[in-house]
Amino acid sequence: MGLIFRCPECEEYVKVSPTLAGLHAHCPSCNVSVPVPDHDMPPDADTASHLYAKKKWEALTAQAQTTAAPATEVFIPPKVAWILGSILVAVLGGILVLAFALQ
Ligand SMILES: [Zn+2]
Repeated sequence: MGLIFRCPECEEYVKVSPTLAGLHAHCPSCNVSVPVPDHDMPPDADTASHLYAKKKWEALTAQAQTTAAPATEVFIPPKVAWILGSILVAVLGGILVLAFALQ
């Protein structure tokens, strides 16, 4: 997960490696060496109302979350889910039919 802060020179949101916290980094937007804070800098009340800044922040944090969290969920394709579902229904239906037939 990267460290996100706002460049004091061009006011662009910049994502850097957390190892640069407290050091200086080159802003990819204006290429000026700027101090990196030791924590994320979310948009404040003023900048949050600025739609572009907010969207940019959300995009950066979303990206950080997707790269940080490994996919632990097992993905079942819809086709397979349908087949498994119909097998389950068929088996349950068969059991019901047998139960009535054996009465
Ligand atoms: Zn900059």
